Amino acid sequence: MKKILVIVAHSDDETLGMGATIARHAAQGDEVKLMVMTNGIGARVDNEQPSEDFIAQVKARQVASEKAANILGIKEIFQLDFPDNKMDTMALLTVVKAIEDVLEKYPPDVVYTHSRCDLNVDHVITHKAVLTACRPQKGTSVRKILSFEVLSSTEWNSPSQPSFIPQYIIDIDDYWHKKSQALQCYQAELRPYPHSRSMECIEAQATLRGATFGFNKAEAFFVERILASNSL
Ligand SMILES: [Zn+2]
Repeated sequence: MKKILVIVAHSDDETLGMGATIARHAAQGDEVKLMVMTNGIGARVDNEQPSEDFIAQVKARQVASEKAANILGIKEIFQLDFPDNKMDTMALLTVVKAIEDVLEKYPPDVVYTHSRCDLNVDHVITHKAVLTACRPQKGTSVRKILSFEVLSSTEWNSPSQPSFIPQYIIDIDDYWHKKSQALQCYQAELRPYPHSRSMECIEAQATLRGATFGFNKAEAFFVERILASNSL
């Protein structure tokens, strides 16, 4: 049994990026936990009481993420409250420390997170903070760090920036239905086709990643680090 920690900026990123892989880990007996950096709704205005509408939206997003987590087999969610779409206003060290706190409570074998190639600023900062918090020092539990792609962020960055390389491919044919079911919990975040965050495009991406490597459907990852100590 492996301990898996998925670290995302917004709830829905875990399902978009690697929902089927999470379901596959859970099915093979691994323990999967999720860390979410922001509420995914918006930043609270300082010194102002949050409106009822704001509180209701945050609550609805939380309920959606709990439902999706149940479907995928995630055991626990560490929900943080960094400012949504404004994580660049935080000191990186504050974000790193928050991740280190979770790593201490739950030292994982494998960490999954965002790609540095994403357009979304929260994704990029989460990526940087994860790599910093998981630096390979003696005694670290983390053996593997993989980053995933999130439609409407990874493919939307400027071509002048480094592009996501699908490098570590996970066959998800038997788990696609779980991802599809979990995505239904996030209806509010999905858009009508031909938006890239539509059900049609998400399925097309899984089909393309699969067929490129001889599978019906796949999720693709970039290897940030693999440490082989006990066995190869
Ligand atoms: Zn996101």
